Amino acid sequence: MSEFSLIDKYFRPLARDFAPALDLRDDAAVFSVPPMQQLVVTKDMIASGVHFIGNEDPALIAQKALRVNISDLLAKGAAPYAYSLGIGLPDTIDADAFLSSFCDGLLADQKEFGIRLSGGDTIHTKKDLLISVTAYGTVPQGQMMRRSGARPGDVVFITGTIGDSGLGLRLLQNKLADSRNAESEYLKNRYLLPQPRSRIVSSLRHPQAIHAAIDVSDGILADLNHILQASHVGAEIDLSTIPLSAAGQGFINKYKLSLEEVVTAGDDYEILFTVPEQKADLVLGIAPQLGVSVSRIGRIVERAGLNLFDASGKKLQWANTGYQHKFLS
Ligand code: ADP
Ligand code: MG
Repeated sequence: MSEFSLIDKYFRPLARDFAPALDLRDDAAVFSVPPMQQLVVTKDMIASGVHFIGNEDPALIAQKALRVNISDLLAKGAAPYAYSLGIGLPDTIDADAFLSSFCDGLLADQKEFGIRLSGGDTIHTKKDLLISVTAYGTVPQGQMMRRSGARPGDVVFITGTIGDSGLGLRLLQNKLADSRNAESEYLKNRYLLPQPRSRIVSSLRHPQAIHAAIDVSDGILADLNHILQASHVGAEIDLSTIPLSAAGQGFINKYKLSLEEVVTAGDDYEILFTVPEQKADLVLGIAPQLGVSVSRIGRIVERAGLNLFDASGKKLQWANTGYQHKFLS
C-alpha cells in the first residue's frame, strides 16, 4: 500500500475535526496558541527491543508511545493538546495489519487524554520498529513546572507506586517465574501500559504548592538527581517510604529481591515533585480528590548530593554516578 493510501486509511481519521491538522492535506499543521498561554513541546521516541518488546499488540505500542509523552506534559503542568507521529516501519511487518491495530490504540488514547493528531511522517526501516512522538501541550504564560525550583526544606513526594513496571518487564522477559495470576498480570500491565498521572501538577498550580516536578522514566533516584542538579540542592530519602504496590512487595518478599534494585528500574511514569513543608498537608488532602495516591519519601536539603537512609535512620552507602547508579550496601 502506498504512503498516501496509508495516510487516507489510518492517519486522516485521527486528525478529523481538528482544524490545525488541515485534514493532513498540507505539508505542515498550524497552531494558534490562546492569548496568555504557551505551547509546551516534548519528544520521546521508543524502539523495539529497547522500550518495548516488539511482540506486543500494536495498540499497546501506540499507547505507550503516546503516554510516555503525555506523562512529560502532565509533569510540566501542561494540558495535552496535539501530537505529531513519526513511524519507522520495518519491511518485515505487514503495514496494514500493524497500522490498523496501532491506530485503534491511538484513537482510544486521543479520547482518554484529549489530544489530537496534527501530522507526521512514515519511513521504512530494515529491522527496527521506531515510534517517535512529539507532543504539544498548553500552559498559562510562565507557568510550566520546572526541574529547577526545589528549595531546601521542601518535602519530596511521589505519586502511585514504584518498581511495578521493572518487575513487569522481568516477568515478560522470563527473568522471573510467571504464575500468571492477578499480581503478575498487574505488574506486566504496568510495563505495557503506563498510566500518566492525571492533572496533579496543574491542579496544584494555584495554591503554588509545587516547586519542582519530573516524571519518573529513568528511575526514581536518577530522576530525583535531575531535580537536585537543576535546583542546586541535595536530598535525604528514606528508602523504606518509597511506595510499593501489594504485588510489588509480594514479589520482593517471594524472590528476596533487593529493594534498591526494584525501585530504581525506571519506566514508572509516576510524578516526583517537591513541596514547601507548609503546603504538604494541602497536597495530601487534594491528591485523593484527583484519584492519585501520593507519598512523602524525604526532604530537600541545602547540601548537594542524594543521601539514602533505611527505616532505622541508618545511612545507606550509595555510589552516586548519575544514570549508572549502583548500591554498595
Ligand atoms: P511530505 O511530502 O511532507 O513528506 P507526506 O507525504 O509524508 O508529506 O505526508 C502527507 C501528510 O500526511 C502530511 O500532512 C503528514 O503530516 C501526514 N502524515 C504522514 N505520515 C504520517 C504519520 N505517520 N502520522 C500522521 N500523519 C502522517
Ligand atoms: Mg513524509
